[in-house]
Amino acid sequence: MSFFKKARPFVIAGPCSAETREQVLETAHELSAMNVQLFRAGVWKPRTRPGSFEGNGIEALGWLQEAKQTYNLPAAIEVAEPAHIELALKHGIDVLWIGARTTVNPFQVQHLADALRGVEIPVMVKNPVNADADLWEGAIERFEKVGIKDLAAIHRGFSGYTSAAGYRNQPNWPIPIELKRRKPELAIICDPSHITGNRSRIAEVAQKAMDMHFDGLMIETHPHPDEAWSDAAQQVTPQRLKEILAGLVIREEYTRDMSGLMQLEYLRQLMDSLDAEIIDLLGRRMELSEQMGLVKKDCNLTAYQPARWREIVETRGERAEAHLLSKEFIVKLYEQIHHESIRRQLAILENIEKEIKK
Ligand code: PEP
Ligand code: MN
Repeated sequence: MSFFKKARPFVIAGPCSAETREQVLETAHELSAMNVQLFRAGVWKPRTRPGSFEGNGIEALGWLQEAKQTYNLPAAIEVAEPAHIELALKHGIDVLWIGARTTVNPFQVQHLADALRGVEIPVMVKNPVNADADLWEGAIERFEKVGIKDLAAIHRGFSGYTSAAGYRNQPNWPIPIELKRRKPELAIICDPSHITGNRSRIAEVAQKAMDMHFDGLMIETHPHPDEAWSDAAQQVTPQRLKEILAGLVIREEYTRDMSGLMQLEYLRQLMDSLDAEIIDLLGRRMELSEQMGLVKKDCNLTAYQPARWREIVETRGERAEAHLLSKEFIVKLYEQIHHESIRRQLAILENIEKEIKK
């Protein structure tokens, strides 16, 4: 069984950075008495600007080793260079993770994977800072190819120019869900600390991740969060972590509750037939579009007509709201439908053009 599926949720906790020997030992001591499977602490920190605290390096590896021996809690660190890997292995670090700023760079990921060829160690790959499922999956594949068997993906959200909805990093939930669809066996861990950037919202995002069937959680934990040398606003005390974990409702993918299963089955059948109708209607809508394309060709009209599109957005948006659907959702859906209509009409106009050219 995968290292990361020994418990659900598989909990990884510990400070953003290993700051002092005392801080590492105190945090590990408190976490070792809780339902925490893995201790995390950054010893080399990727900071946005030079001159910020960039981690305590080799000295901190010694503290992690001591914490592990004293409290019997396996330890994980971020590695960004092959030299980090060599030192981590020398100091008995149990699990490595690749940070978001490294996952974006296939050259660097390949260097790290090459340094792990033939090594048996679990590896966690954070999502790249940009919202690209292929890049994330590609990084994971580089570790698979060198023989790493215990792999996990960590969802820590994606950079945006604004902090929309108050998140530090946008969760973009469809991306980790898509990764899970492509790789059903891969463990997926949510990092609500880096998604929210704000300790007051960690419980809410952790619960959401559990309801999205994630396997685990990585939560930054510090004995005195406000005094942390990095990511102070998002760290929680071990006591608060305990409350967050105790408050989680863990739901399952399957149940033996026959009456619940029968109700679900009934609702799914209704949904199947509605979906069949939706697809039939979309097919008919596209046929109308093509007929309109022929008329537009005859009248020498453009395929895309801005005034008509404004009217569609307006009327479909109003209808959506009258049916308690969000206007934003329906407009997004219509953007896709309209795009397909235009694509078909352009094909009709282009064929005609080709005929004229002949
Ligand atoms: C971290 O885990 O402290 C960290 C630097 O994370 P990320 O790579 O997700 O920004
Ligand atoms: Mn951090």
